[in-house]
Amino acid sequence: MDKRVKMVSEIKEVYGLDSSEVLSAMLQIPRDAFVPKKERGIAYQDGPVSIGYGQTMSQPYTVAFMTYLLSLKGRERVLEIGTGSGYQAAVLSKLAKEVYTIEIVDKLAKRAEKILGDLGYLNVHVRSGSGQWGWQEHAPYDAIIVTAGIEDEVPEELFRELKEGGVLVTPIGKGYNKVMTRYKKLKNGKTKKEKFGIFHFVPFVEEKN
Ligand code: SAH
Repeated sequence: MDKRVKMVSEIKEVYGLDSSEVLSAMLQIPRDAFVPKKERGIAYQDGPVSIGYGQTMSQPYTVAFMTYLLSLKGRERVLEIGTGSGYQAAVLSKLAKEVYTIEIVDKLAKRAEKILGDLGYLNVHVRSGSGQWGWQEHAPYDAIIVTAGIEDEVPEELFRELKEGGVLVTPIGKGYNKVMTRYKKLKNGKTKKEKFGIFHFVPFVEEKN
């Protein structure tokens, strides 16, 4: 069986995530193109893949689940914090209008930007820097996804840059176990919070004031 078809059917059969939109987006993206050459053989495995600089590209199911939690309909402007390989951004590019993505490791940002450009994902915009401060120029966003594990609190600026009614999905919590969490920004300035189980992530790098 084709590796991409097998990966997608695992997400559906093993993990029970049956979202035709998300799975058909993932069927279209060559995941192997986003990993360093020496990891190409394991690009489609059911696990994270090392992308250098101590960072990893998330497991296929995690990418699928986080994307699913955003409930994209095709017209959204999405902000991603933690570009990494660029794979998650490519998946989002199929389901949203514009994708803005920020990566703190400059070399990874440049690498991802080149791969995304070469593959023709023209609605993905990469920036090098810390996502802690958001990306104000293109705000407000319909959805924000943080693909690194936050230890304490979601940076306030990210909520500020989220539209009313918009959602922010992030793994968050002390230590190794992070809780996948979806925040919805409500009209009265409050947020509604939902939790979706334990995941493991590389840490979100945060500057303390
Ligand atoms: N979405 C990525 C997963 C990358 S892992 C993919 O599809 O491959 C998380 C990434 O978040 C790492 O590359 C890490 O360098 C980056 N990161 C951590 N803290 C960050 C911050 N404050 N701002 C931007 N990127 C950050």
